[in-house]
Amino acid sequence: MTPLLNQTQVRHVLVSGGTHGNEYTGAFLVRHWLSDQGGLERSNFSTHVLLSNPEAFKICCRYVERDLNRSFNPSGVLANPEALELSRATQIQRELLSKCGGQMPDAIFDLHSTTANMGLSLVFTNREPFNLLLLGYLRERFENVNAYLWEEPESKPGFLNSLSTKGFAIEVGPVANGVLNADLVLKTAQLVFGCLDFIETWNRGEPQALPEAVPLYKFVRHIDYPRTVDGLPAAMIHPQLQNRDFQELKKGDPIFLGFDGTTTHWQGENLWPVFINEAAYYEKGIAFTVTQRLEIELKNLI
Ligand SMILES: [Zn+2]
Repeated sequence: MTPLLNQTQVRHVLVSGGTHGNEYTGAFLVRHWLSDQGGLERSNFSTHVLLSNPEAFKICCRYVERDLNRSFNPSGVLANPEALELSRATQIQRELLSKCGGQMPDAIFDLHSTTANMGLSLVFTNREPFNLLLLGYLRERFENVNAYLWEEPESKPGFLNSLSTKGFAIEVGPVANGVLNADLVLKTAQLVFGCLDFIETWNRGEPQALPEAVPLYKFVRHIDYPRTVDGLPAAMIHPQLQNRDFQELKKGDPIFLGFDGTTTHWQGENLWPVFINEAAYYEKGIAFTVTQRLEIELKNLI
């Protein structure tokens, strides 16, 4: 048992969903929690619930004019919002400031789903000890929990959850956009309750059962599809790569299958792919992302 002592107290937590309007898992969970918040209540902090992009949710689209989850400016409220989502990002930040006593929430859990076989995955944008310890806490209690560290040099993607250093996006999959898969919805809810339970004990400085170390999959680079001159993919994810998120990709393994049956093989170093064949990333030029597997010892973080 590892004691968590002298930690910064968490007073305000945000659980958001529908940041992408066609990711029904999180959107329907927060819709439910907005009318019945009982399961989210804990003894020593407040939990706020947000349906982030109701306009996109109404039309079951990822966004209306631009990706809301690339629209947050961590350094402050945007001065001249142009697109609907920029204006929404500004409005969300103002509302959070007023709900959380003039500050951003201490921790944010933003609920997403993915068409990739990511299981119950957490997307980190930093290496905060809080997040790493919480990863260990969740891995002790749930199967198939992994964390991807989206640490792109020189890039501030503008995620909703980057308004706080504690917390992360929760990406569950595989599930199609605009679809509710009850098993994944229930698992997402349990994972959120697990995060809130962890915070309750964190605030009390109570000992936790934690593993000695956790794996962390760190961003290396995005891999795009081969493209035809009109910009469309010239090949598909190879069947032998499909669904192999968080599994080692070795030199010579098949990655793409052309429509003429030609196989493209991985020529790089041994790495661990994530977000393989994510529907929303066709437009972003990402067929999959390769990561490096790190092993983080938790005892050094206490
Ligand atoms: Zn999403």
